[in-house]
Amino acid sequence: MLFLTLLFAVAQPAAAQQVLRDSETELLFRDMSAPLVKAAGLRPENVKIVLLRDDEINAFVAGGQIVYIHSGLLQKADNANQVQGVIAHELGHVAGGHILRLNDGFKQATAITVLSLLLGLAAAAAGAPDAGMGLMMAGQRAAMGSFMAFTRAQESSADSAGASYLSQAGVSGRGSLDFFKKLQNQEYRLAIYSKDSYDRTHPLSQERIQALTEVYQKDPAWNRPTDPALEARFQRVKAKLIGYVDSKNAITLYPESDQSVPAHYARAYAYHLGAYPEKALSEADALLATAPDDPFFLELKGQILLESGRPREALPLLRQAVANAPDQPMIAVSLGHALVATEDPKNLAEAKNVLRAAVGRDNENPMAWLQLGMIYDREGDRPRAALAMAESRNLEGEPKLALASARTAMAGIPSGTPDYLRAQDIAMVSQAALDKDKKKKKD
Ligand SMILES: [Zn+2]
Repeated sequence: MLFLTLLFAVAQPAAAQQVLRDSETELLFRDMSAPLVKAAGLRPENVKIVLLRDDEINAFVAGGQIVYIHSGLLQKADNANQVQGVIAHELGHVAGGHILRLNDGFKQATAITVLSLLLGLAAAAAGAPDAGMGLMMAGQRAAMGSFMAFTRAQESSADSAGASYLSQAGVSGRGSLDFFKKLQNQEYRLAIYSKDSYDRTHPLSQERIQALTEVYQKDPAWNRPTDPALEARFQRVKAKLIGYVDSKNAITLYPESDQSVPAHYARAYAYHLGAYPEKALSEADALLATAPDDPFFLELKGQILLESGRPREALPLLRQAVANAPDQPMIAVSLGHALVATEDPKNLAEAKNVLRAAVGRDNENPMAWLQLGMIYDREGDRPRAALAMAESRNLEGEPKLALASARTAMAGIPSGTPDYLRAQDIAMVSQAALDKDKKKKKD
């Protein structure tokens, strides 16, 4: 199930980047990038691909081994191979250790963490003068772009590094070129390869396309098709994403006459978000009819039932989803959530086990902490309830509420214990975010 969380504890919601999380999507990213990551000489377990909710077609790196991909890029990509081309290029920046050119004022921010760095950039972009692009919000984005610009030499080095990763991984460069050309269209001017205002007004030079074409066409992988299973997974993920972020258009893009798996997927999300639970359920049933054991279809139907106030009916579906995908803590959190939502005291112990195991493997799921907090609260363990709420609010980008909860937790937990130290960390991070916000308001 797709859900949103915030990338940083930002006091200014307009500038916050929203992270979209979903088991199936993250698994797809991992599998489609793994051969490229290895070719880049990096370790797959260290590289993360993070999906941001943003309509702009873009992907970028911001230090570390994280590649950020906008939802707009996935929505506009035609196939998995195009996205692999984008990832290969971005990995070229990561492996090349390319340093972002930053204004002097931001140097100190880079010393803290990637998240703080991005916070600084976003905040700066919001206050920057319009770059005269004449497009809505383009000024803000162009300003952000100028802080995140790579040199042209780094761009072309990332191009050739990306080409070599594709080659070593046996992945065709065809998608990379197709995507490149797509971005040349005027409507895609704010595009992935145009990272600064100069590049934005001179998008995707013909020479660059020419150079890449020559390299790609000589490669033995040029005519190799994408693994059909990977391509099918991409089309599913793209469809569910469109159903989620663009539910109004999803029904036009995937009309009722389309009985394919991606179309059912897109409509299930769109109907669910549009508050048509019965229609959403019938789309989920159509998906399950094609693959009754698919953990993501089971998760979807369970989630629709849960969010329609039918947690008891969701339980068997979510239990089966967890059994079929035991390595997916986000699905386990849905089960934990449904168990708590039944309001049956007999379900609390199981919910607690499920949720604790889930946060042990993935502590960046605000829903998991929210549900755990409710369980601790019912058990009368106020300090741990407060700590769980602090975790959840921190992930949701609510520093004021996170700070209050963290302080409540610290007051009731013996000092020096791991839980106490964790509460202290959240309090510090939240206080810093609040101070930054206060300073900005004064300036
Ligand atoms: Zn680049």
